[in-house]
Amino acid sequence: MKEAVRELPLSRPWLDEREEELVLEVLRSGRLSLGPWIEKFEEQIAERVGAPYAAAVSSGTAGLHLLCRIAGLGPGDEVITSPLSFVASANCFVVEGATPVFADVDPVTLNMDPAAVEAAVTERTKAIVAVDMFGYPCELDELRAIADRHGLALIEDACESLGAEYRGRPLGAHGPSAVFAFYPNKQMATGEGGVVVTHSEEEWQLLRSLRNQGRSYDGDGGWFHHVRLGLNYRWTDVQAAIGLAQLEKLDRILELRNAAARRYEELLAPVEGVEAPTSDDSEHCRSWFVYVVKLASELDRAAVMDSLRREGVATAEYVPCIHLQPYMRETFGFGEGLCPVAEQTAARTMALPFFSQIEPGDQERVVGVLRASIA
Ligand SMILES: *Cc1c(COP(=O)(O)O)cnc(C)c1O
Repeated sequence: MKEAVRELPLSRPWLDEREEELVLEVLRSGRLSLGPWIEKFEEQIAERVGAPYAAAVSSGTAGLHLLCRIAGLGPGDEVITSPLSFVASANCFVVEGATPVFADVDPVTLNMDPAAVEAAVTERTKAIVAVDMFGYPCELDELRAIADRHGLALIEDACESLGAEYRGRPLGAHGPSAVFAFYPNKQMATGEGGVVVTHSEEEWQLLRSLRNQGRSYDGDGGWFHHVRLGLNYRWTDVQAAIGLAQLEKLDRILELRNAAARRYEELLAPVEGVEAPTSDDSEHCRSWFVYVVKLASELDRAAVMDSLRREGVATAEYVPCIHLQPYMRETFGFGEGLCPVAEQTAARTMALPFFSQIEPGDQERVVGVLRASIA
């Protein structure tokens, strides 16, 4: 009988007794929402990323959406963002009626090329949603200069890059309001959740009001008093408890992911036709989110991915271009050729199993299977 192949997942959160302990404390306290755990988490993460204020929300998408509302984005406005990202980077303003304008990416960093952003600015441009893709910091200073020159809002989608550093300081410390996310495949996992970090007290108060049905942020006027149009984008204290436990070990999480990425890089170095993600330089220090490799153009990606899956190794196309998603084509008429670099990248990239506690032996197995599949 054939031995069953052991399935190796694409990602897996690192949860242990500490998360259990803190969640149990919240359960026993009876305060499941609007409790003290959220504030504690907000204080700690703000300090961690070097921002004065943090507002936790129900997801990264919710945080981005609130920033787009605060920026007043709506019908007739154009917003420049990256075609090579998760759909939330665009959905957060498309849902407000604004029009996406995709600026092509740099082939090495996979983040928006500032020259392409500059070229995409029109009289209708109102904002830039910058993305730190795969944990690699975007060209924040150059994008900020473009935003300042044209009077645009700058929103940072840092949902994949908690712990990354740009020019020696953590993302979040640089000024533009940034959003981090805690879906289970992110560096830090709480189930669902996100946090907006901001350097503006006024914006912070607005975020706290908007996430809580437009109630005044300080609770003045009581529960059924709504001073503005808001939503329910609240996080829960149960999630905050998991978040606090994850924050305690964030340094270790980042170290382990760094070590796992270095191991893949070494294992892949002799494998021809498989390109590893770009390395850090003096200005960009990546926080490892996923491990995405690029196959040489003569390789058949679908066949390679099939062989991996047959051997129990999870993989995924990472990530398809946003502008080529069916609803984007239908709504805005986008098609192939709009962003050639992003499209050529997206056609050849795939994610390998990658998480904080991945075993070196499993990584060797992944690369062995990959090597065999392209031989
Ligand atoms: C994960 C992610 C988000 C937010 O995702 P949620 O599932 O809403 O928390 C936003 N942008 C990018 C680029 C992401 O990877």
